Amino acid sequence: MTRVYLKKGRDASLRRFHPWVFSGAVARVDGSPAEGDVVFVYSAEGEPLAAGHWQVGSIAVRVLSFAGDPLLPTFWEEALSAALNARKACGLWKSKKTNCFRLVHGEGDGLPGLIIDWYDGVAVMQAHSVGMFRAKAKICEALQKVFGKELKAVYDKSSGTAPFKAGLELVDGFIWQAPRYKPGPQTVLENGHRFLVDFTEGQKTGFFLDQRENRALVERYAAGKNVLNLFCYTGGFSVYALAGGATHVDSVDSSAKAISLVGKNMELNGFAPESHGEICADAIEYLGRECEDGRYDLIIVDPPAFAKHRGALQNALRAYQRLNAAAISKVAPGGLVFTFSCSQVVDKEAFALAVFSAAAQTGRSVRILDRMCQPCDHAVNIYHPEGEYLKGLLLYVE
Ligand code: SAH
Repeated sequence: MTRVYLKKGRDASLRRFHPWVFSGAVARVDGSPAEGDVVFVYSAEGEPLAAGHWQVGSIAVRVLSFAGDPLLPTFWEEALSAALNARKACGLWKSKKTNCFRLVHGEGDGLPGLIIDWYDGVAVMQAHSVGMFRAKAKICEALQKVFGKELKAVYDKSSGTAPFKAGLELVDGFIWQAPRYKPGPQTVLENGHRFLVDFTEGQKTGFFLDQRENRALVERYAAGKNVLNLFCYTGGFSVYALAGGATHVDSVDSSAKAISLVGKNMELNGFAPESHGEICADAIEYLGRECEDGRYDLIIVDPPAFAKHRGALQNALRAYQRLNAAAISKVAPGGLVFTFSCSQVVDKEAFALAVFSAAAQTGRSVRILDRMCQPCDHAVNIYHPEGEYLKGLLLYVE
């Protein structure tokens, strides 16, 4: 058992259940843990505080438990059951309308470094830490115990997320399959709409589950509107817009692979080819060059994270301002703009300020009709407010 002792007075954040121990707070380590080993953290006075995965880098330990022992054989089963119970509480389990959700959202579920998305029985996992990558087999076993016959397969997609410097053998693939499971195109149901999820080739785990509720909001506002869905990925918002009665939807994304799935998702939901257009293009260029003023009544702006770390913050804010100014200036009078940021380092105040500056730049009259955030399966651990990352504004442009 490796013990990690903190410097005197550096235990306050752990006592407030913040799940990280920074390397600067560590006084000494009894033993020589390998990256990803479970270590036990003690105050300078020798009081046990937490246990977690040992890491190389500025965060030395990511906490798995404040009171329990992550090495106990029941640990993973209990942790995954707790995660499932939280999804049951928000009505996502065995829902007739939605059979895909995030099952484990890292720190939000007390499991830093682990993401598991559930696609109608197929669990797609991404380890963001060596500890979680090394725990893969145990996590897979626990998934089988917790989900029983509901589990069809477990797919590991950590090659793009696990620390590449750690020398792990990162090969994506199924780590477990039920005897009757046949790998192939996976479709899911979200709020009654059908989507193809390409978890092997697609971005992240295959689908952006975090926009489920915001897509439903677009559906509510879409009737009779000509809609532009920028950064559409596989057309999530587009399907909802047509379901809500939009007259036409154009979907724009710079990824040809993503765009190739938009038409299939439209077809899956029974929408006629003439009701939608798919455009593989840079979103800013499309707004600037191809899109005449007032053509669209409702524009969705959901770009990838512009700032992946603090150092990129100022540039990101400028990029959000530029993009939103373009969208606000182009939307028809009386039109709507659904604008989002998923950069964790851009907080909601900073984002609102960027959008405010964008509006001012256009000189148009803009009202905020609603504020959006991440859904209940991407919950924020109250002791780890850094977990809040998705925010959005619904603008009405006169
Ligand atoms: N709204 C989507 C998720 C968007 S993720 C959904 O609901 O599923 C961000 C998307 O932006 C990705 O699909 C990525 O391919 C695309 N993208 C990144 N840079 C882009 C650019 N410059 N122009 C257009 N699309 C871009």
